[in-house]
Amino acid sequence: ATRPRPLIAGNWKMNGLLKGVGELEAIASGIAGGGAGHAETLICPPFTLIARFAAAAAGQHIKIGAQDCHAKPSGAHTGDISAEMLKDCGASYVIVGHSERRTDHGETDADVKAKAEAAQRAGIIGIICIGETRAERESGKALEVVDVQLAGSLPPGATGANVVIAYEPVWAIGTGLTPTTGDIKEVHDFIRAKLIAALGEEGHNVRILYGGSCKPSNAAELMGVDNVDGALVGGASLKAADFLGIAAAY
Ligand code: PEP
Repeated sequence: ATRPRPLIAGNWKMNGLLKGVGELEAIASGIAGGGAGHAETLICPPFTLIARFAAAAAGQHIKIGAQDCHAKPSGAHTGDISAEMLKDCGASYVIVGHSERRTDHGETDADVKAKAEAAQRAGIIGIICIGETRAERESGKALEVVDVQLAGSLPPGATGANVVIAYEPVWAIGTGLTPTTGDIKEVHDFIRAKLIAALGEEGHNVRILYGGSCKPSNAAELMGVDNVDGALVGGASLKAADFLGIAAAY
């Protein structure tokens, strides 16, 4: 099977004001200069910046996404944002089930699946996040946890064109810690096998990103692992130089 086109995705979390458009423009110009090689690139700012960033990214080789969506297209859900609204303001991706959403908002696999289905319905790509906690890793349950989360959150009709999986060990997010390349390979190979079991040949086309303390100094090593089709980057996506340093690892 041919490898899918890699994706380097930035998750800005709850960071960024309007002036942050300067950082996005710096990223876009680095990419225009060939800084991301063959990889597709994406920045997911907070909701408040999506429309502004999408305008700045028009005609550039960088896409704009969101960090969450509601499962329904519209209705009486004060404070929520639908996948259709995201598409309408220029987003082409949405992260669903990030561990911070699972922890802060009690999101379950069923919630995450419903959000991934909402993304499909709206015509944007869902980035489904899965990954074990430190306690789960230490008790030898990492694969079991990833298996349950993947089975519970992968929507019917998933394809390489509407879904991305991000393996993000919770203990590696924002900590400076990363699994060994051997441990990353074990989990990514496992996810690939599960995707092929669920989707047949199409399972080869679904990109599996690694996320958790990815930075320019470790990107080449992480991205060189089998079945790692890109990165989901938190902290290091906030600075153009760091994000471009990671993108350059492709
Ligand atoms: C994330 O939260 O998606 C993430 C990978 O964060 P960081 O890169 O900061 O560890």
